Amino acid sequence: MGCCDVPGLMPVETAINNILEQVSPLTKTSTVALADAMGLVLAQDILSPINVPPFANSAMDGYALRAEDLTSTDTLVLAGKSFAGIPFEGECQAGQCIRIMTGAEMPAGTDTVIMQEETTVDGDNITFNIKPKANDNVRPIGDDVSLGETVLVTGTRLTAREMPLLASLGIAQVEAFHRPKVAFFSTGDELRPAGETLEAGQIYDSNRYGIRALLEKFGCEVLDLGIIPDCPEKLRDAFLKGSTEADVLITSGGVSVGEADYTKDILDQEGQIGFWKIAMKPGKPFAFGKINNAWFCGLPGNPVSAMLTLYQLVQPMLAKLAGNSQYQPPVRVKAKATTLFKKRPGRTDFQRGIYSINAEGQFEVATTGNQGSGAFSSMHLANCFVVLEQERGRVQAGEDVTIEIFNHTLY
Ligand code: AMP
Ligand code: MG
Repeated sequence: MGCCDVPGLMPVETAINNILEQVSPLTKTSTVALADAMGLVLAQDILSPINVPPFANSAMDGYALRAEDLTSTDTLVLAGKSFAGIPFEGECQAGQCIRIMTGAEMPAGTDTVIMQEETTVDGDNITFNIKPKANDNVRPIGDDVSLGETVLVTGTRLTAREMPLLASLGIAQVEAFHRPKVAFFSTGDELRPAGETLEAGQIYDSNRYGIRALLEKFGCEVLDLGIIPDCPEKLRDAFLKGSTEADVLITSGGVSVGEADYTKDILDQEGQIGFWKIAMKPGKPFAFGKINNAWFCGLPGNPVSAMLTLYQLVQPMLAKLAGNSQYQPPVRVKAKATTLFKKRPGRTDFQRGIYSINAEGQFEVATTGNQGSGAFSSMHLANCFVVLEQERGRVQAGEDVTIEIFNHTLY
């Protein structure tokens, strides 16, 4: 046990590693049209079928010529034009130049482009005000990507950075892994869906909206099984449905073993589930394991805890299941606390913070205020987690802390 390990509590890193060790990527793939492939994970390496650009072309609007022709004269005779998509058909002879536009093919016999701003035009006589070097303002064939080059590897998630690259190679379809299918439901007699009127003792089910929002951003296919009351038969049915129809089943509530929580009993009967107490705050109770063919993640009921455990513990697992081999955890940087952060040693806190960059270019971070695990407004106000180490106590303004900037899934 390390210096800061607390008996009975599992460090966050250990929990993530435990999960990642157990799951392996899903294997089903299909051929998908490029237009439908955004957010999918490649199940093939992409080798370029062409050179990009496919021909040498001009980087400027100007004149294409042979650089050596300008060693003995400043003036060349205009002999034609090469526009984007409409190349010059002939060959440029000594003493001649060709009008050329950006992206247009370099005419045969030319090796250089001089931009039009450096010329004086007198009918067909073009006088050049500079002496170029060969290849100036020319984009050679294969400058960006060369024929046969491995451009993307299996396990790459397709984003706005990859889509135009694939299109530039003329690739109209890709082999991609299926999105992990994730079923989820909320548990609790007290929960009502938004849109209904609350009766005494009831609250609105917020977790399903947070869970769905994150899962969609993670790139999963979602199956919303609604609100399941604390009733053993209904819970059993929901566990059965979710775990047979999906790759992953996620529930919120009922894992902290309260009086009316039947989930633990059912999970003990139906699956192989570990009930963990994670050394994180919020989010201590968390269940992980397998029911039927599905992985099961039991999130705590408190709304901030549910979102935090989904984001911290389940996000890396879903990336692995999706076949995404290039998943990067959210970025952590050092910041100066500008407010007090209340904390007790024992668990790693993921407090909600608002970071900014000060006049010296350094990160600063302030608390969002109320850090209650049910206070969801703290998530809305925040743009980062303030990750306060397990052994650390209260943080005074002026101290250095680690912040974890929200990744794209929270925007
Ligand atoms: P539990 O883990 O079921 O004991 O729930 C812990 C706390 O979270 C209780 O105050 C619940 O009312 C609340 N809670 C559980 N599920 C939800 C949900 N889906 N939306 C909002 N609050 C919830
Ligand atoms: Mg409950």
